[in-house]
Amino acid sequence: MGFKILIMTDMEGVAGILDHDNWCQPPERGYPGRYYDLGRELLTREVNAAIEGFCRAGAEEILVVDGHGAGGIHPLLLDRRAQLLRGWSAGWPSALDKSFDAVAWVGQHAKAGSVGAHLAHTQWFSYLDQSINGISIGEFGELALCAAELGVPAIFGSGDEAFCKEAQALVPGIITVAVKKGTQTKPGDELDTKAYMRHNLGAIHLHPEVARAAIRDRAEAALALLRESPESFQMPKLAPPYERVTVFRPDEPGQPRQIDRALHPSSIIGVLNMPFHPHPIEK
Ligand SMILES: [Zn+2]
Repeated sequence: MGFKILIMTDMEGVAGILDHDNWCQPPERGYPGRYYDLGRELLTREVNAAIEGFCRAGAEEILVVDGHGAGGIHPLLLDRRAQLLRGWSAGWPSALDKSFDAVAWVGQHAKAGSVGAHLAHTQWFSYLDQSINGISIGEFGELALCAAELGVPAIFGSGDEAFCKEAQALVPGIITVAVKKGTQTKPGDELDTKAYMRHNLGAIHLHPEVARAAIRDRAEAALALLRESPESFQMPKLAPPYERVTVFRPDEPGQPRQIDRALHPSSIIGVLNMPFHPHPIEK
């Protein structure tokens, strides 16, 4: 039997992507978006490298989920062996269910406040931090915890170096590829949303073709390892009830931070899908 794999994708963790406003957003959204099409190509070719690696190791069915708000995958450039989910309407865990044998990430950035990251944020640059039962998580962790609840192993991830460290800390054994390394050395917790957007723009990148070759080879190795010794991919273990705590930066300097708490008696997926009702933190 061949393997069925879901690849979650994002843009900010791709080699060659310089910033958010020019490379990750289209002009229609009010951003300059000068290199958005090139950004989509850079992401899609990294995704294709992962698809090639997974297919070499026996993947039979691959669903690529475009997890970037404005869309990051160029449909015409995507490897025709994969199908593409566009549009984010189903909530967590998007299209992931127990029928998948593994989940992987390409182009993923680190969570908000990560040191040495590139374009780090969680959902939006307004998040200071989000945690589940006291474990700080980013966008990787949100899906990885859902996958663990469903019993689907997280086997591979590519993005910036800080993302790779974050993934390995939450899911020991996951195989990662760092395609760039952020040059910023401070978390920037004191910054408001607008200032934080410009906090970590510097990075040293691999050449995109070098990054793709590494992604292809390590994705192949990850799926081969899943076949040979699935126990090498661990799953984060949390016990219910599940509390999500999210702290938001002020939009403008001088405003207070906001906090939201949500509690679910039995499900991580459940708590991640609960609505937000933030209120100011008293000083
Ligand atoms: Zn993202």
